[in-house]
Amino acid sequence: MNNLRNAKIIVLAGCAVMWVFIILGLITNLEIFAEIGVGVAIGTGLVWFLRWRCPHCGKFIRKAATDVCPACGKELDWKLFKK
Ligand SMILES: [Zn+2]
Repeated sequence: MNNLRNAKIIVLAGCAVMWVFIILGLITNLEIFAEIGVGVAIGTGLVWFLRWRCPHCGKFIRKAATDVCPACGKELDWKLFKK
């Protein structure tokens, strides 16, 4: 169980779902899709803020393009699939 990897999956899926609803809203001109899209965006943002943290020291990680924690220097496991 890797919290960072789970957070990455949830955030990526949340972004994908958000875009689907935004595009649906643009195509259909129905506000409900835009409202759901905003709800998903807020939910994804919350998961990102709460779970996007170093599993070693619990500090919030601002950037995803780093292999080591900027706060404690320990290795971060972002990989979705092990080689
Ligand atoms: Zn850390």
